[in-house]
Amino acid sequence: MHKAYRLELDPNNVQRSSLNRAVGARRFAFNWALERVSRRELKPNQFVLINAWNQWKHEGAPWWNENSKFCYEEAFEDVTRAFQNFFRDPAKFKYPKFARKNVNDRCRFRRIQLEGRYLQLPKIGCIRYKNKPLELPPGTKLLDATVRRVADRWEVSIVTEQNIPDPEPIIGPIVGVDLGLTTFATVGAQSGVVERYQAPKPLKKALRKLRRCQRQLSRSVKGSNRRKRCIIRVAKCHRRVFNIRNDFLHKTTSKLARTKTALVVEDLGVANMIRNHKLSRCIADVSWGSFLNMLNYKTRWYGSELQQVDRFYPSSQICSGCGHRQPTQLSQRTYACPQCGAIMDRDDNAAVGLARCYTGSRQHQEYIPPGRGKFTAEESLEHQGDSANRQVNAPQVATLKF
Ligand SMILES: [Zn+2]
Repeated sequence: MHKAYRLELDPNNVQRSSLNRAVGARRFAFNWALERVSRRELKPNQFVLINAWNQWKHEGAPWWNENSKFCYEEAFEDVTRAFQNFFRDPAKFKYPKFARKNVNDRCRFRRIQLEGRYLQLPKIGCIRYKNKPLELPPGTKLLDATVRRVADRWEVSIVTEQNIPDPEPIIGPIVGVDLGLTTFATVGAQSGVVERYQAPKPLKKALRKLRRCQRQLSRSVKGSNRRKRCIIRVAKCHRRVFNIRNDFLHKTTSKLARTKTALVVEDLGVANMIRNHKLSRCIADVSWGSFLNMLNYKTRWYGSELQQVDRFYPSSQICSGCGHRQPTQLSQRTYACPQCGAIMDRDDNAAVGLARCYTGSRQHQEYIPPGRGKFTAEESLEHQGDSANRQVNAPQVATLKF
């Protein structure tokens, strides 16, 4: 299984310029290849591109030897993949764009090594990193490292291959997860217990600042020093927003994947269509996507199960109590069922409804399946009693904040 680690590098000045040169070389090679493929001079194939580059580089890019060959080869792989994606699914993947300076400047290396607090990159050498030393389980293979400039810092994501043993299935509730804008995630169990996860408040503040910085940037004169400062400021804002959101997403998804037997989520497409809020939409889109992505791999790590419900299941229209269906409007915050008389918060109803859509083979925590071999009879009774108590004591609505 692949597992990635993100670290912050602490390069010295020499290494800093080597890194800048490396990402510059990667950008040059990417654009070189994209231009030739667009003109139909070359096929979008990594090996074709590498061969063509190796013939061309001596006259066209005499500085090629200053950088690791991976700067070029990995750029060609990126071009190849971008075209493959575009040909396969042009609705989702746009035609590849030229790489721009200061926009997601990055470079991928292979043949990397980790030594204590140092990361060794080809042609650049050992760079110290700021995090505590990585402890990798024995037998871990280091696949590649992507170095990235984020505002004025350097980050690296290291992809490893590890043997992670299959986890024991988690014993807990089966829940539905409804993603929204006012409440980021509403988690409803089949039993009707609801938890709410609010997006962190600093995010809102940071987003406001980001908007202001971007306005400043758009007013500044091209090529001026002020513009350079603005670019860094915007990048720093982006980094802060990303870090706050990412931290929240990781904490929330880990908690869910570690404590729930199964999670039922709505397909993202449907959520997008229903909640067509203009401004916040693109912001929410990104985090909903990565939220589901994180849930997807973390449930596999920790022994939970993720189930996606059909795109056309109208979770906000169906009563979670009796299954009655009625049209609802986005502005209605509560769901009132004319058939069974239940009155619930709209998101709570959707979340509990999703939980009851679960079709997998796992069981809710009140019932402990025989033969799982994890509990003796006595223990399982204890466990049942325990969980029953928790059910009674748990508040109907628990709001968790980070
Ligand atoms: Zn009902």
